[in-house]
Amino acid sequence: MFSSELLPVNIAGQWRLGGGDAYESLYPATGEPIARLNAVSVADVDEAIERAHHAFMTSGWAQKLPHERAAVLHRVAHLIREQGETLAQKQRLDNGKPINETRALVASAAGTFQFFAAALETLEETITPSRGPFVTMSVHEPMGVVAAITPWNSPIASEAQKLAPALAAGNAVVVKPAEVTPLMALELARICEEAGVPKGIVSVLPGKGSVIGDAITKHPLVKRVSFTGGTTTGKHIAHIAADKMMPVSLELGGKSPTMVLEDADLDHAVSGVLYGIFSSSGESCIAGSRLFVARSIYDEFLTRLAEGANALRVGDPASEQTQMGPLITAKHREGIERYVELGVSEGGRIRTGGVRPHGNGRDKGYFYTPTILEGLTNNARISQEEIFGPVLVAMPFDNEEELIAQANDSVYALAAGVWSRDFKRAWKLGRAVQAGTVWVNTYKQFSVSTPFGGWRDSGLGREKGREGIFQYMEQKSMYWGT
Ligand code: NAD
Repeated sequence: MFSSELLPVNIAGQWRLGGGDAYESLYPATGEPIARLNAVSVADVDEAIERAHHAFMTSGWAQKLPHERAAVLHRVAHLIREQGETLAQKQRLDNGKPINETRALVASAAGTFQFFAAALETLEETITPSRGPFVTMSVHEPMGVVAAITPWNSPIASEAQKLAPALAAGNAVVVKPAEVTPLMALELARICEEAGVPKGIVSVLPGKGSVIGDAITKHPLVKRVSFTGGTTTGKHIAHIAADKMMPVSLELGGKSPTMVLEDADLDHAVSGVLYGIFSSSGESCIAGSRLFVARSIYDEFLTRLAEGANALRVGDPASEQTQMGPLITAKHREGIERYVELGVSEGGRIRTGGVRPHGNGRDKGYFYTPTILEGLTNNARISQEEIFGPVLVAMPFDNEEELIAQANDSVYALAAGVWSRDFKRAWKLGRAVQAGTVWVNTYKQFSVSTPFGGWRDSGLGREKGREGIFQYMEQKSMYWGT
């Protein structure tokens, strides 16, 4: 698979080598290089944005009728599906997720383009009630050049989530993928071009966030940034946006509580909690990383959970049997190990995991075992800070009042899970917990038609849903004299 030839990047439709430093993208399961490319330079960023602006003004993309742009987006969805297996295998190499997960992400990217194509065709401009000798209506216009800045944990799905509605709205889009996972954004740009999106309307600019992401965010021709990533980076982007009076949407970190009540279906809850924290190696903004279990079932539940965690198949992402792959980089694994040490120094006990697994081809990759810590309170640093890895902190609770207070005691409020057979209790808890998404008797399920986003330090704004398209448009009110 590895070719030592440098991969071209996409500077507003020009496929050429980036002007920045060369680097290698590594396969997290083996540490071996899978691609070499040059990051873009700040001069490339300026050129891409100016060309993208020119394409927005002259290519006719913004002026196409909704059904014409929708037809192109439907072709994008079709091409993603047609090339699905190749894309899923490439993404596995890019980010180390198990093949079953990358297949699902590729399918979700196709579904996202399909959804926003359909949404575009059905958007209505509204006539507002008249309050004088005029007719008023509210219309929406594309913004121009918008930027999509994405993290490394769910490439293709995160990029599609921004690219599809931004293109549907008629904009030019500059995508800045995470430095360590550049391949899927480049593939999407190629597919968009193949589907008929005019050259220059999509750019992909890989490189360091603090240099390239910063230059994109500050550029005067960039009219909106849609960002997914860490809360510290999100706040930095929000400051720049405030200076430019630029709207932003921020999908940020999480430390999501999962609550298991004593009347829960335990088989169902055990597998749901395991999936919620350990799928994607816990490298998921919505990972259910704080577990609260009713004290009366705590011991039994933890015994079953630990057995389940031990039984998870951690290993080769190419195998369909694998349930957990490696972590993204060696450095990220070291950070997770430091968090587990911190948890122990704060008085925590490792119930299971907490080591690097060996053998079965795992020695060179960045593997780590599914880890459960007990004996800590919700105030411990490891209970409060986002670890972004396969580490669960489990705590018993005595009553619902205490449960809600602890679940909501976090700077984050992205997601939450409730496991109970009692509809009324689950409803009450689901309404009382502060979170952008609440799952009841399930976890980590997604639908593109349902808005997604966070409260507090977990973000600003919502993606997905039919309304998601309006993020990328300016609203205009028109008065017609009668
Ligand atoms: P990160 O904030 O380090 O990077 C995200 C992106 O921002 C990357 O492309 C990066 O290069 C870029 N970037 C970094 N510094 C920048 C700057 N100064 N200006 C502009 N861009 C900059 O995050 P990460 O480590 O790639 O991803 C993990 C984080 O993402 C976790 O906190 C996770 O919870 C969060 N996340 C959130 C969601 C969500 O939907 N809420 C989804 C996935 C990941």
